[in-house]
Amino acid sequence: MHQQRPPAAAEHATPGVAPRRPDESALEFRSLLDAAVDAIIVIDHRGRIEQFSASAERIFGYAAAEVIGQNVDVLMPAPYRAEHDAYLERYQHTGEARIIGIGREVQARRKDGSVFPCELAVGKVQGVVPPRFIGFIHDITLRKLADERLRRSESELQLAQELANLGNYVVHLDRSEPDYYSPQLCRILGIGAAEAAFPFIASIGRWVHPGDRERFDEALREFATRGQALDCEYRIVLEDGATRHLHHIAHIVRDAQGTPLKHSGTIHDVTDRRATEDEARQLQERLTHFSRLSTMGEMAAGLAHEINQPLAAIATYAQACQRFVRSPDRDDADVLEALEQINAQALRAGEVIRRLRNFVKNREVKREPVDCNRLLDDLRTLAETDARLHNVRLRIDAEPSLPLVYADPIQLQQVVLNLVRNAIDAMSEAPATRREVLLSTRQSPDGEIEIVVADHGSGLAPEAAEHLFNPFFTTKAGGTGLGLAISRSIVRAHGGRLWHTPNEGTGARFHFTLPAAPVSLASKGE
Ligand code: ADP
Repeated sequence: MHQQRPPAAAEHATPGVAPRRPDESALEFRSLLDAAVDAIIVIDHRGRIEQFSASAERIFGYAAAEVIGQNVDVLMPAPYRAEHDAYLERYQHTGEARIIGIGREVQARRKDGSVFPCELAVGKVQGVVPPRFIGFIHDITLRKLADERLRRSESELQLAQELANLGNYVVHLDRSEPDYYSPQLCRILGIGAAEAAFPFIASIGRWVHPGDRERFDEALREFATRGQALDCEYRIVLEDGATRHLHHIAHIVRDAQGTPLKHSGTIHDVTDRRATEDEARQLQERLTHFSRLSTMGEMAAGLAHEINQPLAAIATYAQACQRFVRSPDRDDADVLEALEQINAQALRAGEVIRRLRNFVKNREVKREPVDCNRLLDDLRTLAETDARLHNVRLRIDAEPSLPLVYADPIQLQQVVLNLVRNAIDAMSEAPATRREVLLSTRQSPDGEIEIVVADHGSGLAPEAAEHLFNPFFTTKAGGTGLGLAISRSIVRAHGGRLWHTPNEGTGARFHFTLPAAPVSLASKGE
C-alpha cells in the first residue's frame, strides 16, 4: 500500500478519546484498507487517486504506485470515463450527488483493459477542504455470472417445459411465499397464473373428466391423508370443452418435525401421446382381426366340413322321419327319436357357427377370467377338422386345477390357433406316424401359466429363427407372415412371453406364458 499523505480522518481526533499520533492513525487506516475485501480508493476533488488498497490492486491488476496521482477515470470504461470529470465538477458547484451516499452498479476496467461489473459506494471524507472522496468497489462478476446462469437455466427449463408439454407448480401451505405456477402449466390448463387458486390440487378437481373422477379422488385422498406421493393419470375437460390427458405427479415437502410445508408437482400433458397410442392400438386391432380372418380362410375347408357333418346328419334324420311317418305301422317313439337327433345336430352346427362368428367378429378387446384348459377344449372344435384333413392328430395334455388367467379369450384362441396352424403346416412332409401336435398346459414354478404347442415338423432353420417374429416374414407360398408377430404382441399385451425351443427329436415347440389372474379378478368370473 502506497500512501502520499495521511488520510483526512486521521487529522481529526474524536473528542474525549486521547488523540493518537498521526503516523499511528495512518498505520491503523492502512491496515484497515489492507484488510478490506472490497477495493477501497480515495480520490481528491479533481479525481486523482490518493489511496489504493491491497484489494484494489488485486481487483484492478494495478500496483498502487502505478495509479496514485492518476485520474480515477483510468479505472473506468467508456462512457463512465468521459463523464466522470464533469460529474465531479458539477458536484462541487451544485452539491448534486449521483452516487455519493447512494451507491450503484457500474462497470470498471482492469489494467489489462477487461471490463467487469461492480457495486460502487462512494462517501465524502468529512471535514476536509477541498473535499476528498472514498470509494468502495465490490466485484460482482461471480454474482452476475450466477445470475446469468440462473436466468439461462430458467429460460432453458421453460423451453424444455414447452417442448415436453410439462408444467410445474409449488404451493406453499403456510403461505410464507407466493405460490408458483409455471407459464407452461397455465397454458396446459388454459388459465392465467392468478386463476390457479389455492388449494391448487383440489381446485384442479373441478375439471376432472367424470370418467376419471373416482380414480383422481382416490389418489388425492391417499396423497392428503397418507402423505404418499401423488402419481395419477386422468383427463380434464377445459372451459372450451377440449379434453386433455394429464400425468400428474406431486409430493409434499416437510420440515424437520414432519409438518407439511409445500406441495410441489409436475403436470405432463400426454394428450398427443395417448392419441397416438390409441391410433396404434386401433391399427393393431384391425391387423389382429385381419390375421384372424386369414387364419380362418386357411381353415375354411375344415370348418365347412365341420358344419357339413351335422347338416348331412339332419338331412338323413329328416328323411328317416318322412319314412317313419309314411309307414303304416309307424312308431311315434322312432319319430321322436329322429326329431331329437335333428335338434341335437342343429344345435351342434349352430354352436360351430357361433364359435366361428365369435372368433372372426370385429370386436372390442375384453378381458375376463379364463381357464386355459377350457380354452384348449373349445379350440379343438375349430382346429380339429382342419388337423384331420391334413392327417394330423391333436393331443391335449392339460395340468389339472390350473389357476385362471385374466385375458381376452378370443385373442388367446387366436394365438393358440396360429401356433397349431403353423405346427400343421410344418408337418406337411412328415411321415404319418409323427404327425401329432401336442398342446399342453402347466403352471411354472414362479406361478405363471405356460402353454406349449409342440410338433414333429421341419423345425426351425437358424436363419428363419432370427426373423420369425418380424411382421411379414414367411417361408410359405400363401403365408402372410403376420401370425407370430401378432401372437407375440397379444401375449406381451397380456403380460406374458412367447418363444420357441427345438422339440425333442424333430420339430419345434412354441411356448407362451401368462400371469395367473390376481385372486380379486379371478373370482369375478365365478
Ligand atoms: P405365416 O404362417 O403366415 O408364414 P407366421 O408369422 O405364423 O406367418 O410364421 C412365420 C414363419 O415362421 C413361417 O413362414 C415359418 O417359416 C416359420 N414357422 C412358424 N411356426 C413354425 C413351426 N412350428 N415349425 C417350423 N417353422 C415355423
